Amino acid sequence: SASPLAGRVAVVTGASSGIGEATALRLAELGAKVALLARRGDRLDQVEDRVRAGGGTALALPTDVTDRAAVQAAAERTAEELGRPDLVFANAGVQLISPITDLATADWDAQIDLNVKGVMNTVQAFVPSLEAAAAEGRSADLVLTSSIAAVRILEGFQVYSATKAYVTQLARLLRTELGRKTVRVAVVEPGMVDTELPDHVTDPAASGLMADLLSRIDVLRPEDVAETVAFLCAVPRHVNLTEITLLPTEQV
Ligand code: NDP
Repeated sequence: SASPLAGRVAVVTGASSGIGEATALRLAELGAKVALLARRGDRLDQVEDRVRAGGGTALALPTDVTDRAAVQAAAERTAEELGRPDLVFANAGVQLISPITDLATADWDAQIDLNVKGVMNTVQAFVPSLEAAAAEGRSADLVLTSSIAAVRILEGFQVYSATKAYVTQLARLLRTELGRKTVRVAVVEPGMVDTELPDHVTDPAASGLMADLLSRIDVLRPEDVAETVAFLCAVPRHVNLTEITLLPTEQV
């Protein structure tokens, strides 16, 4: 195949729904072999089946990315079964918004554990293989999912936004070392995407705010983000699109 992604070995975290699922499907369609990481094994199996039905290769690896040893084990399985990963999409994340005065400490922890530590666990498990792929002269990509919330000041978003600001800044910092080794690092900052993300919000006011935005404007589809991720991994090796913001046109 003429696709620049043909033969690449991709890893997608949060591949059981939303942006991760759409990106895994798109990368597979473009010829990448894809390891699928998330907790819900039944959903991963469905994604794996869809990839197979389209003639592609996928491997469902039920993994809680907040568990460092589990992510390491998934990295080893991927290398054994698909080959050394050269494209990693660290995308799993959770958004649990509420007023700070609610002191929703369990939600604070859940966001920090997944959006910050989960990303670091993914980095530790896959940076060595990205470095090795690049050393062989192949394209190597680390793509992180941040959010427009990394830069916007939105009431109720304090912990979520701070975790996403961490992710955006992390991508910049990782480039200082990895760029030199021809490993590309990119961060995508989407605005509102129609996914399962708001379903986890327990605060009624906060979920009302998101439902309102969803009803008023034509929001992004997961496929819009998937296409963007595929594009930035497919450009020539010497080009690193580093930070990409995609907003629904009407989200101003
Ligand atoms: P979804 O809720 O549909 O997807 C989240 C994914 O993360 C699921 O596959 C979920 O799978 C996975 N996940 C959750 N916890 C864990 C865990 N502990 N270990 C492994 N995987 C986990 O929402 P989105 O697709 O919208 O979210 C993807 C990313 O996009 C997140 O980082 C989010 O912050 C970001 N984002 C989303 C926006 C939006 O408007 N939707 C806007 C900007 C950024 P499972 O439950 O099976 O583990």
